[in-house]
Amino acid sequence: MTETSVTSESISLSAEVRQENLQKLQDQQFDILVIGGGITGAGIVRDAALRGYRTALIEKDDFAAGTSSKSAKLVHGGFRYLKSLEFGLVHEALMERKTLLDIAPHLVRPIQCLLPIYKTDADPSWMIHLGLFLYDWLSFTKSIGRHQMISKKEIEEIEPLLRKEGLQQIAQYYDCQADDFWLVMANLQSAAQNQAIIANYVKAVDILKEDGKVVGIQAYDSITDTSISIRSRVVACAAGPWSDQLRQNLLKDTQQGLRQTKGIHLIIHRDNLPINYPVVGPAVQDRRPIFAIPWKKFVVLGTTETDYDGDPDRILTERSDVDYLLVAFNHFFPNAKLNYDHIVSTFAGLRPLIFETGKDASSVTREYQILEDHQNFFMITGGKLTTYRTMAKAMIDRLSKHLKSSFGISPTNPDCVTDKLPLYGGDIPDYPQFFDDWTKTLTHKYNFDLEIAEHFIETYGSRIPDLLQAIQETADGQERMLPNLPYVWGELKYALKYEITMTLSDFLIRRTHLFSLDPKQALDIHESVANRMGKYLGWSKAEKQAQIETYKSKIKIIQYFREEQ
Ligand SMILES: Cc1cc2nc3c(=O)[nH]c(=O)nc-3n(C[C@H](O)[C@H](O)[C@H](O)COP(=O)(O)OP(=O)(O)OC[C@H]3O[C@@H](n4cnc5c(N)ncnc54)[C@H](O)[C@@H]3O)c2cc1C
Repeated sequence: MTETSVTSESISLSAEVRQENLQKLQDQQFDILVIGGGITGAGIVRDAALRGYRTALIEKDDFAAGTSSKSAKLVHGGFRYLKSLEFGLVHEALMERKTLLDIAPHLVRPIQCLLPIYKTDADPSWMIHLGLFLYDWLSFTKSIGRHQMISKKEIEEIEPLLRKEGLQQIAQYYDCQADDFWLVMANLQSAAQNQAIIANYVKAVDILKEDGKVVGIQAYDSITDTSISIRSRVVACAAGPWSDQLRQNLLKDTQQGLRQTKGIHLIIHRDNLPINYPVVGPAVQDRRPIFAIPWKKFVVLGTTETDYDGDPDRILTERSDVDYLLVAFNHFFPNAKLNYDHIVSTFAGLRPLIFETGKDASSVTREYQILEDHQNFFMITGGKLTTYRTMAKAMIDRLSKHLKSSFGISPTNPDCVTDKLPLYGGDIPDYPQFFDDWTKTLTHKYNFDLEIAEHFIETYGSRIPDLLQAIQETADGQERMLPNLPYVWGELKYALKYEITMTLSDFLIRRTHLFSLDPKQALDIHESVANRMGKYLGWSKAEKQAQIETYKSKIKIIQYFREEQ
């Protein structure tokens, strides 16, 4: 048995590399500068780098700190969009589902969703059946499995917790689930492997102009408290929910391009809702589709969709949001009797949808658009996590034309190859074999338990050797950080070395999900993590305290509903 399937080189993304990147941002002339390190920006910078453009990306917060770590984590065609006849969008998303499964098999996994059909539902079962035929068919040659209809009799065995009253039939169909943060990170690491310069905590604050044309961005690095001028032929803005704000601040353009809708999710322990499959169905209150999705030892319940015009940097989980989901899921699973005590944590995000009037929030299209807002300044809005790669391709195709016609610049590799090359950690030709081999190696040779072994495989993929090295370099590297979750102390070293981890929140919220999965939001270990990070990153006592305070303020945001008056 071989221990690895590693074919690509490790890419170091430490605080030192970030510092070098800041210097390069200042010194070099780029072809494409991307603003925004969510999934859209990460996809764009990877595509640009793979085509051979001199490329950089700046993110004002941490990577994926915006919407891209707050999604329902579904890589899906979007069955419900068939009803609004968005066949093109559904087809594209279904094709992407398989592409992402191929290029990141460790991060994306197929799931079998259950769609219960009740007598009182608006859509009869024949219509759902027909819709799912179409859904399967639209995936063409990239099918990951065909749907089937399950009788009421069989359901007791399959999903005993589901409401039986009025139940007629159940449809079972395939989609995929992915960890959104890791998908962003893998795109960024792939981009960095191909010479892209990336930095978090660098905010675009102004545009640089010459002869009325955009020639770059004035940016601010909040870690070192310094300003930097970044020169680039074109700027590609992928600022998600901040797009209108950015257009206003940078271009003094007040037109509304976005329809922002807020969506919250609840995380509960699976012991409190021991479902076997993801369950999808209409909420009893308003017939909007909602999901209960098993995720590790937990279940993610979501989502709401309400118009939002508040601060995109502070999206509170309000009591009305939580109550809506509890009522809806208690209707589906009446014996679970879910209440506030069952909620481990919540997360809230904003969908950066294209501005459309006259539609209710959940009917707004998930299509995307690319606009040239000023000469050399392009903006992309809309879309979904699932279709980020095709959005990025469309953006780079457009920028390529512009770079050629305005600057005579052609890429070294004109074709998009992001669907053919694996993402960082995803160079795994035979995933089932890889899974088996590494499970044996990690449990037998390294003495990790199965839960930890699976966590490593599904997070780090082919980068496991780098992780094992980081674990070896940490005195208690192999020990669990908290008894009930599979994160070990060695992962901190890995995060600092390979994932530009700059703050306590970066590590506890995103590099691990301790913030979301521990009922105490990791408050038993946050000081110890801060001490270790502080040593590595050279924090003063005051800086360490500030890190802790910022982290605690984020807990208040996700637990706001408990104290709301
Ligand atoms: C509740 C919810 C559930 C969802 N579920 C799914 C799902 O299951 N499947 C699916 O396919 N899609 C889903 N989506 C949609 C998907 O999550 C989004 O379309 C996607 O994450 C948007 O990514 P983005 O990169 O465009 O925006 P973001 O992730 O928000 O990224 C924009 C980034 O720009 C940065 N930025 C802003 N201003 C500046 C500046 N001045 N300088 C530098 N950086 C800046 C921000 O900090 C932010 O990180 C869901 C969305 C929501 C809200």
